[in-house]
Amino acid sequence: MDQSVSHFSILTAGSLSTVTLSVVVPVFNEQAVLDEFQRRLSAVLTGADVSYEVIYVDDGSTDHTPQLLQQLQAKDPRTGYVRLTRNFGKEAAMSAGLRLAGGKAVVIIDADLQDPPELIPAMISAWGSGADVVNMRRRQRSGEPWWKRTTAVTFYRLMERVSDVPIARNVGDFRLFSRRAVDALNELPERGRFMKGLFSWIGFPQVTIEYDRPGRAAGKTKWPLFKLVGLAFDGVTAFSAAPLRLATWLGLTSAGGAFAYAMFFLAKALWVGDTVQGFPTLIVSLLFLGGLQLLCIGVLGEYVARIFTETKRRPIYLIDTYRPATALARQTD
Ligand code: UDP
Ligand code: MG
Repeated sequence: MDQSVSHFSILTAGSLSTVTLSVVVPVFNEQAVLDEFQRRLSAVLTGADVSYEVIYVDDGSTDHTPQLLQQLQAKDPRTGYVRLTRNFGKEAAMSAGLRLAGGKAVVIIDADLQDPPELIPAMISAWGSGADVVNMRRRQRSGEPWWKRTTAVTFYRLMERVSDVPIARNVGDFRLFSRRAVDALNELPERGRFMKGLFSWIGFPQVTIEYDRPGRAAGKTKWPLFKLVGLAFDGVTAFSAAPLRLATWLGLTSAGGAFAYAMFFLAKALWVGDTVQGFPTLIVSLLFLGGLQLLCIGVLGEYVARIFTETKRRPIYLIDTYRPATALARQTD
């Protein structure tokens, strides 16, 4: 192949292969924390003695985040900036970052300092000892409201029971991936990207490091309850057919029950005679079965909706602006 063409294809993949570590940061309206985040992150990375790039994925922020990120990039050429055309959601933003990251290892980290950048050196050394995926497990979630902790616990329990791949409890998106793990993730073609599931689906040697998760440094959570419930639905439907199976079992059980009940009434009518009674029974069973049917159709609908999204084969995100980090070529280990 022509030299310039292959060089071009490397560039568009975002990779100037000399960089050791790419740090992917999905950001959505994080003006309150960005400066502090960049300060702590670059202090850690400079001390870590690796060549690196930081890729900020601006997930359609509507505050001053884009301007701040451009300033950060002007100050530090190891900073890359990607802006998506609108808010596509954190899963899509992470997918964009993973696609553009060129490092031999990639760390995904939240911008709100709930994932302490100071832990990155430990992640790098776990990777150095042979792990392809370094998972960070939260020991406790301080500074998070009770409803968030409760929904999180319920969600992880549910996933543990129904999911086809083990979804580690209390492990968020703060992780390190080796090059081959990132390549594997980039290979996965699905549009519905429940990343916590995909991260464990790829397999590879994984290690887990525990840490105490602090509260948000500033700003507000971007995950209100309804969005979390949506994420939970995505997770369950993407990694489990259990709800469909449950619908089948519910149908079988209620049909079985109904048959037995019908036999009982038939026998009663034959031997005792037909008394016009039992209106409450009639109405209760009618409503119960009606509700059950709607529920099962709803479950079916959730899966059909996902098939619908997948078949359209739309891209996971669209990029508005991409300015890669520029200082990489001069950096070597
Ligand atoms: N985020 C994003 N797109 C979204 C929502 C969130 O890129 O639609 C980013 C957000 O800026 C932050 C990270 O994802 O860096 C985690 O979000 P947040 O802290 O609000 O979630 P929480 O920690 O409350 O679960
Ligand atoms: Mg947070």
